[in-house]
Amino acid sequence: GGRDRKYKRILLKLSGEQLMGDEGFGIDPKVLDKMALEIGQLVGIGVQVGLVIGGGNLFRGAALNEAGLDRVTGDHMGMLATVMNALAMRDALERCNIQSTVMSAIPMHGVTDQYDRRKAIRLLENGEVVIFSAGTGNPFFTTDSAACLRGIEVEAELVLKATKVDGVYTADPVKDPSATRYSRLSYDTVLQEKLGVMDLTAICLCQDHSMPVRVFKMSKPGALLSIIVGEDEGTLIVG
Ligand code: UDP
Repeated sequence: GGRDRKYKRILLKLSGEQLMGDEGFGIDPKVLDKMALEIGQLVGIGVQVGLVIGGGNLFRGAALNEAGLDRVTGDHMGMLATVMNALAMRDALERCNIQSTVMSAIPMHGVTDQYDRRKAIRLLENGEVVIFSAGTGNPFFTTDSAACLRGIEVEAELVLKATKVDGVYTADPVKDPSATRYSRLSYDTVLQEKLGVMDLTAICLCQDHSMPVRVFKMSKPGALLSIIVGEDEGTLIVG
């Protein structure tokens, strides 16, 4: 039928800020519950979902560095923040009866599993949501890069980047009402025009490994599901 799923395995990247709701900091469990339900819809139609969540609602290395902390220490704090977000998301998923496992790039025995690619693939094949936390495990990277890296590693068919806007625009649509949405962009255009969709490391990685990225608005009801059934939602970045 027309609403069959187009993708079997995806990697969804949520920013930390998307977990904080109306507050300026922290985690809003109500927002998490809503997201868990949307993710559950995908699992329900047989989509294998890998998740990467940022940490910007709690700590960012660059911001801590500006405030006087050592950059690498700040990045370690940022990565630990992503683990906290991942634990909160697992909690929300399990409250919706969606099986999930948190893996961390930084070993955290007793709190999360350690990242293991083959184990992650097995869990995904069993219909569990796998949350990849602690980014890449390295300072000077972002969770966008981590999302693309994990997506490529576990052979996801698509990286989905959730943003506040429903795709990439020619200008900031809030400031410029004449701005139009790109339905499709090439990696080269994103890099050349410095469109700021994702950091350049992440885009380069996707380009090198032909991993398509779709930028979309998570808070738009049904957006996630329509992407999965192959509708033209947000902006697709491809070769
Ligand atoms: N971070 C890092 N290495 C990684 C991923 C993240 O050092 O591989 C740190 C970095 O300090 C970053 C913070 O974790 O600022 C939170 O991640 P990010 O800023 O990507 O979160 P988001 O903006 O998506 O909420």
